[in-house]
Amino acid sequence: MSGQEQQFVQDVFASNWIAPLGPQVDAFEKEFCDVVGVRHALALSSGTAALHLSLILSGVSQDDEVIVSTLTFSASVNPIIYQGAKPVFIDSERASWNMNPTLFAETVKRKVAQGKPPKAVILVHLYGQSADIDPILEVCNEYGIALIEDAAEALGATYKGRSPGTLGKAGIFSFNGNKIITTSGGGMLVSDDGDFITHARKLSTQAREPAPHYEHAEIGYNYRMSNVLAGIGRGQLQVLEERVQARRRNFDYYVEMLADLPGIQFMPEAPWGRHTRWLTTLTIDSERFGADREDVRLAFEAQNIEARPVWKPMHLQPVFAQYECIGGETSATLFANGLCLPSGSNLTETDLVRIVSVIRSVYAQNHS
Ligand SMILES: *Cc1c(COP(=O)(O)O)cnc(C)c1O
Repeated sequence: MSGQEQQFVQDVFASNWIAPLGPQVDAFEKEFCDVVGVRHALALSSGTAALHLSLILSGVSQDDEVIVSTLTFSASVNPIIYQGAKPVFIDSERASWNMNPTLFAETVKRKVAQGKPPKAVILVHLYGQSADIDPILEVCNEYGIALIEDAAEALGATYKGRSPGTLGKAGIFSFNGNKIITTSGGGMLVSDDGDFITHARKLSTQAREPAPHYEHAEIGYNYRMSNVLAGIGRGQLQVLEERVQARRRNFDYYVEMLADLPGIQFMPEAPWGRHTRWLTTLTIDSERFGADREDVRLAFEAQNIEARPVWKPMHLQPVFAQYECIGGETSATLFANGLCLPSGSNLTETDLVRIVSVIRSVYAQNHS
């Protein structure tokens, strides 16, 4: 927490407006629109809920196909299954680690030619960096496919000057505890389409029809964010830019202190925008470095420092093994060699020195 949150939460208690909906939720949505540059926003209980509603409102149902990045967190994919639809995984490109636009275009064209166009695509913006949206959006527009952007990890990033999450039909953000800003748990659905958000708002509050009694013509969900958590979100939003700067400073420090080591390669920052470095991630070429990713991770663990492998691609997950994947080598290699370094906005210089010394000592042990 940054300090501002308590005031907003106090306002909630003073007004005794605790339940979902209320002035803090309205203000959080409006302020979020201003920060990311979008017309409409809907505060929800999680990013996953936002993805689920996006799919429902894009008409995704039983046996439809939904294209999705394979290198991501499972929450990008689970809502496809909730709808009884089938994920089609697409491999990463090296430039950004995000969905390969060429593979995406080829896949859409093949499926259209086969008479089964995908219903939607969930494009993930990984680790604080936007995917290359334009070529993907172009294909979506040509074939009438809904582009849903999973920007859960990319709040504060830019793509050609705009915020990822705001270029497609809908975008989602997450305020889970590990994200760049947090409400302890929560999410946001954004769109320039007012009707889309109005309908999502209705579904998120149990799909009540306008009537004095409880009237229902659609299946609803209980997905709304509480007024208390929206108060926290408003405080957090004020420190977003500071957080991005802190994360980027961590990254710069790691680069400065580790770049001379052979076989270490940081996740590239693609030319189209700003990477927030929500997480600093790198790959280790074991032949050149003299030790592999697991050696380094275990050396961290021995020092009680948490560092995790890059996401295990969805096409390699037992639960999704039966689904189609286009390519897969690039993301599999990133998983095999990739490591996420400690990246918190509150890391101290002492922490950073300690972290760097662990990696350097693994290198030194293998080069003595
Ligand atoms: C965190 C995350 C989500 C889910 O957000 P929740 O708010 O935790 O439901 C979805 N996609 C990606 C890529 C994420 O990292």
